[in-house]
Amino acid sequence: MSDLINILPDSVANQIAAGEVVDRPASAVKELLENAIDAGATLIQLIVKDAGRTLVQVIDDGCGMSDGDARLCFERHATSKVRVADDLFKLHTMGFRGEALASIAAISQVELKTRRQENDLGTFVINEGCLIKSQTPEACPVGTSIAVKNLFFNVPARRNFLKKDSIELSHIEEVFRRVTLTNCDKAFVFYHNGKMLYDLRPGNLAQRICQLYGDAYRERFFPVNEDNELLSVSGYVGKPEYARKSRGEQYLFVNNRFIKHPALSSAIEKAYTDIIPDRYYPSYFINLTVDPSRIDVNIHPTKTEVKFVDEQILYSLLRAATKKAIGQFTLATQLEFNPSPDLDFSEAKKGYIPPQPTVSFNPDYNPFTPTTNTSSGGFRPSSHREPVDDVPASNRWDNFFDTSSDGQKPATIGSFVPPVAPSAGGVCMQILNHWIVTAMPSGLMVIDQHRAHERILYERLMDRQQSVSAQQLLFPANVTFSSADADMFNELLPDLQQRGFEVSPLGKNVFVVSATPADIKERQLQPLFDQLIAEYKNSMLQKFSDRDRTLCLSLARQMAVPVGQPLQQEEIQALVADLFCCKVPEISPSSERILTTLTSDQLSKLL
Ligand code: ADP
Ligand code: MG
Repeated sequence: MSDLINILPDSVANQIAAGEVVDRPASAVKELLENAIDAGATLIQLIVKDAGRTLVQVIDDGCGMSDGDARLCFERHATSKVRVADDLFKLHTMGFRGEALASIAAISQVELKTRRQENDLGTFVINEGCLIKSQTPEACPVGTSIAVKNLFFNVPARRNFLKKDSIELSHIEEVFRRVTLTNCDKAFVFYHNGKMLYDLRPGNLAQRICQLYGDAYRERFFPVNEDNELLSVSGYVGKPEYARKSRGEQYLFVNNRFIKHPALSSAIEKAYTDIIPDRYYPSYFINLTVDPSRIDVNIHPTKTEVKFVDEQILYSLLRAATKKAIGQFTLATQLEFNPSPDLDFSEAKKGYIPPQPTVSFNPDYNPFTPTTNTSSGGFRPSSHREPVDDVPASNRWDNFFDTSSDGQKPATIGSFVPPVAPSAGGVCMQILNHWIVTAMPSGLMVIDQHRAHERILYERLMDRQQSVSAQQLLFPANVTFSSADADMFNELLPDLQQRGFEVSPLGKNVFVVSATPADIKERQLQPLFDQLIAEYKNSMLQKFSDRDRTLCLSLARQMAVPVGQPLQQEEIQALVADLFCCKVPEISPSSERILTTLTSDQLSKLL
């Protein structure tokens, strides 16, 4: 019997490779745009017909190709970007597999026109199904135009798999966004069926986001910037109130290449814990700059998946950078509405990075016990904000969406109005034993009393720097559990002690409570601990549970003043004052909105 093994002809091998590289018109768009960028183009035009089925054309003003290269570029493993294997680990360019053009040409009819600066005449190559049909001299501008016609003309099975035009076009638009977001210094134009969809001028990232998504986006983000030996993070993260129920604009780039990395994405989302409701997702446009030798980008043919050597550290750094950005933002908004008259803004140095906001409070202070501080009738937030006030206000919006082309004009602040504490001496009233209302310059603020108190208690309990004050019970109270629950409760004793409970074991499954954080009634203790154990057990079953958070959340929920409880005037004032000393006064730790302001416009519409 003769030998069985054949070497596949190039045309067949290329078609097989094409299956990996080009699965729909959007993939051809991606490869062509990336090649244009690698060629150093500054203006790139994308022309698409019938969602890419009949034409995908990219015209660039890059370096162009020689006559020889214009033929060679269609060969498999033809690349000008890698010469030795070691180059793979140093790459800063977009493509490096040398397969894209070969794959595209294997399944379409390609017309390539290209000219280099040093040549008077360019060249015109027609390639069909991987065979060069003709090459002729051609007068054309410096740069390259590649027109990919009738994609999948020789692979009907694949053509039949294409989705409706609207779907294929949205894939192309997504590719276009990914590429243009990381190449803000270049101009792009995108036509579909003769209609111009995008006309992007060179600018910075903020401008590019607004050009792609509309000017409204200017108000939705704040900057993140962090530099570290291992990692530099730059870009924008969404303001919490614009978080959505689905993951929308989440763009993570590494060394200017779009990547999908669930762990790093979750690092960003984790930074929003407690700030946005559960199952809401923030938007972000973040670029990470990492030493290319610490990444393996080549593990997936479409190169959106990457592996990092230092993944764990990157995770922590990215989460911290996002948290810091959110913190600075909160700080900035507080300053915006509480500028200290003593600050000399002109002294502000460029590049000054505000410190992380800190929230100070008196651990002995009980919002429901009148004190001299609150019974004087005034709010206290200003005294609580001292750490915040020493930041020069003119730095607040440094780097914030500055759409002036020269970067000189001051950045504009959007119309987003963050919650601001009612002014000192303002009147607050409880209505229906549920809400607190107070007049604000911008309208009428309504605060949910239970959620507000839950937020105050939660932040107090979570702060490990401060131990919560304990109040001795007149008569120590016993609590009893099943033996399994008693074991669990034993585990929690140190945490409870740190949070103002004095509890000690008293025989089998019985514990005696001699002190509690202020304002817990004796009869509340058993149900409070039962619920705490139930929630704790439940959280232990979840993969990513945070013991401290579970504990504090459960205690805060149960200890917070319930809806329906009448409050004294001093209690109301204290509650409002304390709420505005919280890091996140808008959203409760159970992810519910705490307050809203009815503006005069809204009131006029009602009346
Ligand atoms: P890769 O980009 O991985 O090198 P491709 O198949 O995409 O492989 O391209 C092959 C080669 O063709 C490139 O390395 C480059 O030298 C050349 N090339 C492709 N597109 C362009 C372009 N728009 N301008 C100049 N040269 C190009
Ligand atoms: Mg390429």
